[in-house]
Amino acid sequence: MPRQTRRPQRRAAAKPALPVSDRVRARIEAAGRRFHANDSIAEFIENEAELQALETEVASRMQAVLEALVIDTDHDHNTTGTARRVARMFLHEVFRGRYHPMPRVTEFPNAERLNELMIVGPITVRSACSHHLVPIIGKLWIGVLPSGKSKLVGLSKYSRIADWVMSRPQIQEEAVMQLADLLESRLRPEGLAIVLEADHFCMQWRGVKDESHMTNSIMRGAFLKNEALRREFLQLVRL
Ligand SMILES: [Zn+2]
Repeated sequence: MPRQTRRPQRRAAAKPALPVSDRVRARIEAAGRRFHANDSIAEFIENEAELQALETEVASRMQAVLEALVIDTDHDHNTTGTARRVARMFLHEVFRGRYHPMPRVTEFPNAERLNELMIVGPITVRSACSHHLVPIIGKLWIGVLPSGKSKLVGLSKYSRIADWVMSRPQIQEEAVMQLADLLESRLRPEGLAIVLEADHFCMQWRGVKDESHMTNSIMRGAFLKNEALRREFLQLVRL
């Protein structure tokens, strides 16, 4: 009876798979892109299953944070599911603007050649500061002066775009800049103005424990050159 010779096993023992966050990070680095807290990384997450795996990884690391805080999640019924809830909230709710792609927005040509100042707002803004991950809640106004070459979007789309940018750990000054860049690149307006007035809970809940509003504005194009237009906008948003 012929003897079967078995070749020595060439295959090395399976390496433990990299955490999914490392795989995503490696793709971003290979593309030479930035992944600060307020950057979208949605395009580097391959599919729904990978996003799900990322949620599981965040939940397990959040569990480690609770343990480091010496919270008895085994017996405290209030915190038993907290790690998973926080992971879901981060990835799919309060920071969804990092992990989910921008909502679909259909631009249409300015067929009527509208060229009057258009103001959208106040839009309620919900965000969180990058420094403490504590809420920032505010109101946003967007002024657009279209030209014949501009694209237009439906009014409700402004709040969806704003929400996508704000649903990330943010810095107020950078948030309005990101929103202005995005709207300019999509709409090509003659002028664009944004005002954001927000309460920072990291000032009220901790630190100086003071009521603290912060107002930021950004003026681009015609709003920079035309003072009457800028005044009209600021008067209409009552600031
Ligand atoms: Zn803060």
